[in-house]
Amino acid sequence: MICFCLMLSACAPSQHHAQQRVQPSASSTPGAQRTLIPAGSSARRSTIEPNVSTGMRGKARSCRPHVFDELRLKPPLRRERQAVANAAPAATHTYYRNVVVVLTYHDVARRVQAETDTVSPEQFAAQIARLQQGGFHFISLSKLQAFLSEGAAVPSNAVCLVFDNGYRGIYRYAFPLLRRQRIPATVFLIVSYVDRLENDLTWTEIASMSHSGVFRFGTETYNLHRAVAIDAAGDTTAATVGRALLADGQPETLAHYRRRVLRDLSRARRIVEAKTGQAVDTMVYPYGQYTPTLVSLAHQAGYRYLFTTLGWVLTPGANPDRLTRLDVGVWNETPTEVVNAILTVVRDASRGSYTPPRRYVTVWR
Ligand SMILES: [Zn+2]
Repeated sequence: MICFCLMLSACAPSQHHAQQRVQPSASSTPGAQRTLIPAGSSARRSTIEPNVSTGMRGKARSCRPHVFDELRLKPPLRRERQAVANAAPAATHTYYRNVVVVLTYHDVARRVQAETDTVSPEQFAAQIARLQQGGFHFISLSKLQAFLSEGAAVPSNAVCLVFDNGYRGIYRYAFPLLRRQRIPATVFLIVSYVDRLENDLTWTEIASMSHSGVFRFGTETYNLHRAVAIDAAGDTTAATVGRALLADGQPETLAHYRRRVLRDLSRARRIVEAKTGQAVDTMVYPYGQYTPTLVSLAHQAGYRYLFTTLGWVLTPGANPDRLTRLDVGVWNETPTEVVNAILTVVRDASRGSYTPPRRYVTVWR
């Protein structure tokens, strides 16, 4: 079951959204699994395996080997990792080039409950400091988009910060630090929650973050970040991908489903654009679930960059319909574990490319 919670962890509600929790009770401690692997070891860590959670095995090998030609970890990784872990990082060292690792956070809060996607303000600050001292370079969503679409240059050891779900802790605890240090970040809003749920951002806070020039915004639907029942047996799935049961007990028609989802995604985008004055073209699939139909609806709604919850690196030409990232905003994740997770996924990527599955749907009972 480790796989299942891994998939969900990047989008699982934190304790603040416990009432919206839809996944089966699954416990995981992703951070705890992030241990060092000696260089040359064939051991794979589940936290960075992109596809264990789907039950689909094996990576597509060497689809684009040239993309990774520049991606060399040197000298031997074990020594490098220890150097980083020993807090004597060389801020100028190049671990990787022409690769971006998107780092996913959820909530930042004073009280951090076990097993949640929440970090404390101190933990967040320590992670950011370690990344800076370790020679990682933060890039904005715009830079990432230019990198993906046009192959625009990015600095070495590039990382890109994103926050899912739009919790208020981002404003309270992450924003002051990121503004002071001019570190760009992106928040994916569940738009109907804004100004409505106590632990979610308000439009005033969002405007302030937007005006700072540090924050960009994307969406995570207007109000489809939830489960819908899809059959009489009690199966549920994400409201973005499932044909929901209607009042008469029958599943909605395909046309009904398409209308419902398209309307929601368009509404989310329109509202955030109007409120922030920013162009919005990036979205996160709730719970990481997507289907070809959802991809096409997202395109119709005006989105060009779509994030999954699959843990992998990004290189130029990566499929913008299924962008991958690394979930690090976990309750017990230490700064060293964040760095190790990045270096490990980069190393794994350098050994073979990976194509996420086209279909990525899980039914929850
Ligand atoms: Zn989410």
